[in-house]
Amino acid sequence: MIAAGTSLLSLSPEEQREYTLTDFESQMPRWCPGCGDSSVLVSMQRLLANEGMAPDQTVFVSGIGCSGRFPHYLNTYGFHGLHGRALPVATGVKLHRPDLNVFVVMGDGDCMSIGAGHWVHATRYNTDMVALLLDNNVYGLTKNQTSPTTPQGHPTLTQPGGSYLPPLNPVSATLGISNASFVAQTAEWLPPHLYATLQAASRHKGFSFVRIMQRCPKFVDNIFSNYIEHPELIELIEHEDGVTVPALERTHKVRRQHDPSDLDAARSLAEDEEVLRLGIFYRDADRPTYETTRALPQHSAQEKLELLSEELDRHAI
Ligand code: SF4
Repeated sequence: MIAAGTSLLSLSPEEQREYTLTDFESQMPRWCPGCGDSSVLVSMQRLLANEGMAPDQTVFVSGIGCSGRFPHYLNTYGFHGLHGRALPVATGVKLHRPDLNVFVVMGDGDCMSIGAGHWVHATRYNTDMVALLLDNNVYGLTKNQTSPTTPQGHPTLTQPGGSYLPPLNPVSATLGISNASFVAQTAEWLPPHLYATLQAASRHKGFSFVRIMQRCPKFVDNIFSNYIEHPELIELIEHEDGVTVPALERTHKVRRQHDPSDLDAARSLAEDEEVLRLGIFYRDADRPTYETTRALPQHSAQEKLELLSEELDRHAI
């Protein structure tokens, strides 16, 4: 990304280059027809091109699940790892190469079940990366099993009589983790909102957690139909420096002004599930990132010799 105020004359030819969607396209996606993952992929390709994130400076890390195929469909660096383990891999990448743009793509089971410990601590670490939760409310790759976000009573292969437990609320749960710095929610069937949210997340310096409601027509067809057919059940959270989507003004009129620096207000908005709220719930741009707080002092070779000598002197008789 080119920093605001940077003179174009000071940039290398590669940095001055403008990117298009085709710079980020890779192989043809193999998701089912109508899968919401495709919408997220296209928005992400647009974002990378528009924000000028060079393919060789960008890394996508995924776990296991339908969403895990994301890195295969982008012409950037990618790492398709183990179930639930995308976040520690991405943290390692970012700590070793803080100059890279790092994105993590996870499914609901991937992030909030087997990967739950990593999700909690990645939020607390506040490493500068974007974590996308593609939440279709079910394990799709393993063909319709109950996930942590499956609605209570919804029948699946593993719980044919209906999911036993109330679902986990990814937004309120993340807002309850110490040191959370950016928490947002969007829906892939609203591309302008999805794009604006991804853009805000990518510009945040810190751990940006974005829950994306994602349709899975193969196994949970109609699970979000109510929200799609009745936009009045969706409330867009707005702020002058937040996610504003003029393209949805005619269709999505229910809006709420919310100060994203107010954590208590963010938590109470997230816990109230009477309507589906989309937008930035919480953002604190001043929290130090993990790579800053753990940064070791930099010393020249001469300084290192002097420090070593000083340390050895302490043990001299
Ligand atoms: Fe998408 Fe569902 Fe098919 Fe997986 S099973 S590719 S989530 S539609």
